[in-house]
Amino acid sequence: MAEPFQSQSLQYRASGSVGINLFGHLPTTVDELIRHADLAMYQAKTAGKNTYRFFDSGMQKMVDERAWMGNELRHAVQRKQLSLHYQGQFDVQHGLVGAEALLLWSFPGRGLVPLEVFIPLAEQIGVIRELGNWVLGVACVELARWAAIPPMAHLVMAVNVSSQQFQLPGFVAAVFDALSRTGARPDRSKLELTESVLIQDLSGVRRSMATLKAHGVGFSLDDFGTGYSSLKYLKQLALEQLKIDQSFVADVMTDSHDAAIARTIVTLGHSLGLQVIAEGVETVAQRDFLLSIGCNIFQGYLYSEPHSAKAFEDFVCIKQRGANAQA
Ligand code: C2E
Ligand code: MG
Ligand code: MG
Repeated sequence: MAEPFQSQSLQYRASGSVGINLFGHLPTTVDELIRHADLAMYQAKTAGKNTYRFFDSGMQKMVDERAWMGNELRHAVQRKQLSLHYQGQFDVQHGLVGAEALLLWSFPGRGLVPLEVFIPLAEQIGVIRELGNWVLGVACVELARWAAIPPMAHLVMAVNVSSQQFQLPGFVAAVFDALSRTGARPDRSKLELTESVLIQDLSGVRRSMATLKAHGVGFSLDDFGTGYSSLKYLKQLALEQLKIDQSFVADVMTDSHDAAIARTIVTLGHSLGLQVIAEGVETVAQRDFLLSIGCNIFQGYLYSEPHSAKAFEDFVCIKQRGANAQA
């Protein structure tokens, strides 16, 4: 197949992806044989094409597991298996300034399903809109509730939005709907986008961001430095914050390259007039290094773990009482 071939004046090259299924002594049907070979062929394609894969029973198990989990995910909202947890964000000068809402899917008998597994799955099976709207709704209800609790009234709620979700038709309207339904203040809300949102329809993304920003909604670029990090869009988009990815923060004390990357992100962000927040800050040494390079907003276990709504409220109120007692 690798041989080039000529058709009219053009030369063509083809490549093949091959799925192989061994059989002989196993009782099986023709349909099943073909289905398994097909599965192996898709594995070959996923592995970069132009190669071959043998079918093994693990492949079928993976496919079955995904189909099963997808089905469960479709019912997760209505079965009340989802919840949001809130992790504080701290500014050196002003103390607690906001919280990031983090989604949890707690599956009976299996515990927590990792987000890295179920967010892509939700995108693939077409339930990310429902899931994302549920997150927006719950986060806005909570944000509106904070407004009535004095030590929490100033906090900004950051909500993660997957890039597919952001580009769904009607996303902007869904945000406005969640805000107006709950009475949450747009200028206390922030959306965390990842760089992958920027490789697709850039002008559409820019328009949506500008519309939301005109109503006060803020934007943070999550996991900065791990994706495309094109400097061109940084100045084109209505961003207000860059988030240094936790993989860099984790090794700032031991890896001089990560330290240099963190330093560069801080300088870049500040020179473009953006806030820079570090995520995944776990130790005093990491915090002190980040402070020394000019980063002054932090999120991570050193400051606060993600808490349930009630536990986060207690955390904030206890902190506030401590501050009052000191004053
Ligand atoms: P992210 O937005 O970068 O969130 C930060 C992740 O780091 C969270 O993981 C958080 O629990 C974890 N983390 C916080 N502090 C520390 C720390 O000090 N050390 C370490 N090692 N980890 C820390 P989580 O909750 O598993 O979330 C993973 C990712 O899933 C998030 O990364 C975000 O991209 C995505 N995600 C979370 N909630 C949502 C959601 O509601 N919608 C969408 N589309 N994506 C979400
Ligand atoms: Mg985030
Ligand atoms: Mg992140």
